[in-house]
Amino acid sequence: MSDLKAKVVILGAGHAGGAMAAFLRQAGHEGPIVLIGDEPIGPYQRPPLSKAWLKGEADADSLALKDPAWYADNGCDLKLGVRATGLNRGDKTVTLSTGETVSYDILVFATGARARKLPIPGADLQGVLELRTAADAEALKAALGEGKRLAIIGGGYVGLEVAASARALGAHAMVLERETRILARVACSQLSDFFIAYHKARGVSFELGVEITAFEGEGGHIRRVRLADGRAIDCDAALVGIGAIPNDDLAKDAGLECVNGIVVDLDARTADPDVFAIGDVTHRPLPLYDRQFRLESVPNALEQAKVAAGVIAGKPPLTPEVPWFWSDQFDLKLQIAGLPFDADTILVRGDPATAKFAVFHLKGDQIQAVEAVNSPPEFMMGKQLIGNRKAVSPERLADTTVSMKEVIA
Ligand code: FAD
Ligand code: NAP
Repeated sequence: MSDLKAKVVILGAGHAGGAMAAFLRQAGHEGPIVLIGDEPIGPYQRPPLSKAWLKGEADADSLALKDPAWYADNGCDLKLGVRATGLNRGDKTVTLSTGETVSYDILVFATGARARKLPIPGADLQGVLELRTAADAEALKAALGEGKRLAIIGGGYVGLEVAASARALGAHAMVLERETRILARVACSQLSDFFIAYHKARGVSFELGVEITAFEGEGGHIRRVRLADGRAIDCDAALVGIGAIPNDDLAKDAGLECVNGIVVDLDARTADPDVFAIGDVTHRPLPLYDRQFRLESVPNALEQAKVAAGVIAGKPPLTPEVPWFWSDQFDLKLQIAGLPFDADTILVRGDPATAKFAVFHLKGDQIQAVEAVNSPPEFMMGKQLIGNRKAVSPERLADTTVSMKEVIA
C-alpha cells in the first residue's frame, strides 16, 4: 500500500539519492522528502570528474543533477555536510552528525561507495590521491599539468580514464596494475589488449603484475612509488584507483542483511519493508542472469531510484533493465551491455586495428554481453537482444556485411 503523504528520508545525496528525490516528485509523491548528504555540495555527476571536467572541458556547475533551487521549490529538505551516524529501525529514526534525530516513514539508503585505500607506508603523504568526490577531483587536477608525473595505482576505469585525461593535459602517466592485464574486473582480455596498446601509443606507460609496497616522500610530499621487486617509480603525485567499497556499515549495524552491499529485492527494498536501498551500495537481483550482484554505474543508480520511487508512490512495476556501462578514453567510446556470466563463446565483430569493433559473449545462441568500442549500433542492438533473449546466428554476428538488425537466427 502506498502512502503519498509518507515522509521519505534519503541517506546519501549522490547520483542515486538526488535522482530518487526527483523521481518521487515525478511519480506524484506529496509527502516531505529529506535528503541527507555528507558532501558540502548537492547531488552531482561523478563521471566527468575523470573525463571532461578533469580536462577542463566542463565546468563545475554543469555537473549538478538539478538547479540548486529545485530542492526547496519541490519540498525537499536538502541537508548538506551532514552525516547519518545511526539508525534505529524500531522507532524509525536516524541520528545525524549534528546531533539531530530525524524520523522517517520510509528510509532509502543511497550511500554509494568509497574509494578503497592502499594500506601501505606513506599512504598519508601529500600528493597521494584518490578519486571519488568533487573535492578529490580538485586535488587531482591541481597535481596535473605539462610535464607532471602521475603514478596511477590500478588499471581499472578510474586509472585509465585519468591516464587519458592526464595525457591530454600534457602530464606523464604510468599505470601500475596488480593483475597481468588492465580492466580485469570489468572487461574481457581482448579489450584489455586493445586498450593497453591504444594507451601506450599515446604515451601512457604500464607496469603489470606489480605489487606496490610503499609511497616514499621528501618533506612530507610523495616523490616515488616503491615496488615489491625493489624498483622505484619517480612521480610528483600518485592516484590510487583500486576499486570501491560499499558504504553499508550503517545498514549492517542496524541489522540489515549485507553481502558486499545492502541486500535488496527487485523493488530495491530490504527485508525491512520500510527501508529501501539504491545505487552502488546495493547487492541486487539480476533476473536476466539469475544472480545477485553489486553494480557500480550511473544507469544502475538511476534504474533503482526510479524503481524505488515508483514502488513508494504505488506505480506499476517497471521491467528490469539490461545493465549497461560506458567509459570515454582519448577518442574511444566504450559501451558495455550485459554481463558475461556463463558465456561459452567469445566472438569479435569488426577489426580492433580500426578502433571500431565489438566483442560479443554468447551462451549458446544468446548474447549475454557486448563490449562495443566506437560501435553504437552493436551496443544498442546487442543490448536489445540481451533483453529480449532472441537467438542470434554467431556466423552472421561475426560478419560485418550483415547488419545488426539481420543477425537474429
Ligand atoms: P554516490 O554517487 O557515491 O553517492 C553517495 C553519496 O552518499 C556520497 O555523496 C557519499 O558521500 C554520501 N554518503 C555516504 N555515507 C553517508 C552517510 N552516512 N551520511 C550521509 N551521506 C553519506 N559510472 C558510469 O556509469 N559511467 C561513468 O563514466 C562513470 N564514471 C565515473 C568516474 C568517477 C571518477 C567515479 C568516482 C565514478 C564514476 N562512475 C561512472 C560511477 C558512478 O559515479 C556511480 O556508480 C554513481 O555515482 C553511484 O551513485 P550512488 O548515489 O549510488 O553513489
Ligand atoms: P575498478 O574498476 O574496480 O578497478 C580497480 C583496479 O585496481 C582493478 O584492476 C584492480 O585489480 C586493481 N587493483 C586492486 N588492488 C590493487 C593494488 N594493490 N595494486 C594495483 N592494482 C590494484 O575500480 P576503480 O577504477 O578504482 O573505480 C572506482 C569506482 O568508480 C568503481 O565503482 C567504478 O565502477 C567507478 N568508475 C566507473 C567509471 C565508468 O563506469 N566509466 C569510471 C570511473 C570510475 P583486481 O581486479 O586485482 O582487484
